[in-house]
Amino acid sequence: MYPDYHMHTNFSDGHHTHDEMVYAAQASGFSEIGFSDHISLKPVAWAMDLKRLPELINLIGHIQKKSNSVTIRFGAEVDYIPGLVDQTRNLIKSMPLDYVIGSVHFIDDWNFDTDINGYNEIDIDMFYRAYFRLIGEAAQTGMFDIIGHADLAKKFAVYPSFKMQKIYEQCARIFSESGVVVELNTSGNNKPCAEFYPSVNFLEVLHHYRVPITLGSDAHVEQNIGQYFDEAINLLKSIGYKEIIGFKQRKRIPISI
Ligand SMILES: [Zn+2]
Ligand SMILES: [Zn+2]
Repeated sequence: MYPDYHMHTNFSDGHHTHDEMVYAAQASGFSEIGFSDHISLKPVAWAMDLKRLPELINLIGHIQKKSNSVTIRFGAEVDYIPGLVDQTRNLIKSMPLDYVIGSVHFIDDWNFDTDINGYNEIDIDMFYRAYFRLIGEAAQTGMFDIIGHADLAKKFAVYPSFKMQKIYEQCARIFSESGVVVELNTSGNNKPCAEFYPSVNFLEVLHHYRVPITLGSDAHVEQNIGQYFDEAINLLKSIGYKEIIGFKQRKRIPISI
């Protein structure tokens, strides 16, 4: 099984402990996984309590030492929040991370991936433009290794009136110039949009711009670790990808597919 770099534990909004996740991954034949609990400088219920960071750092170090059959990477899913870039950068630097996923879950103060009512009050075209501008900015900060669920705006199957091709091209060019990796996040299959993040069309553009890919299930329960990975790998191959990317201490490790 290829490494799964996106999963949550009960330190943030996941249901299981680190040990339970490792055990499940081992039973499913994974040789490498990465934990990526939510870290947000906005006070939200689904992110971890930042006071528990030392506890998390100790725990992951301990699990990395004792786990023989599964290599454990220490990742984090960190919110990109314009205006809090320096604080975010300092927080990231204070942790011995293997990789950092940068995710956009907010437009201003609207948490658009949990607060579905907000969609009735906004111009969807403007929402899409704002979202994709933010993920481009996130990449340009240079503080993230990976851009998380890069077209999350489609989660609730609400779509803009215009074609997305131009925005995909602009984003892919920024990702390529900024040197970020994009994750193929398989959890979108379970959401109203019913497809991976990013979409096939977006992935094709990313491949054209030579943007590398990681794999993430975004599991919040142990049963979802590695969900749809066979399908994801087949899709990447059909688009022309020959490798995915692993990380150790924020250095890339290519993995052939
Ligand atoms: Zn997320
Ligand atoms: Zn996540």
